[in-house]
Amino acid sequence: MKQVQVKVSRCPQNHACPAVRVCPVGALVQEGFQAPRVTETCVGCGQCVAVCPKGALHFEKE
Ligand code: SF4
Repeated sequence: MKQVQVKVSRCPQNHACPAVRVCPVGALVQEGFQAPRVTETCVGCGQCVAVCPKGALHFEKE
């Protein structure tokens, strides 16, 4: 399963991550305003990638 990656340097880490709310399986976890962490639950649907305006969520190029 291809899981989403978090590019922490792209995340301003100053807000509640909107991608956490769109993930259908609750795979993104955010502590405070830190960049979100991806858990094993991720099914690679890509919905969070479309939501993050900073491009901090992405799939590794193969
Ligand atoms: S790719 Fe889909 S399942 Fe994975 S973290 Fe993003 S929204 Fe959740």
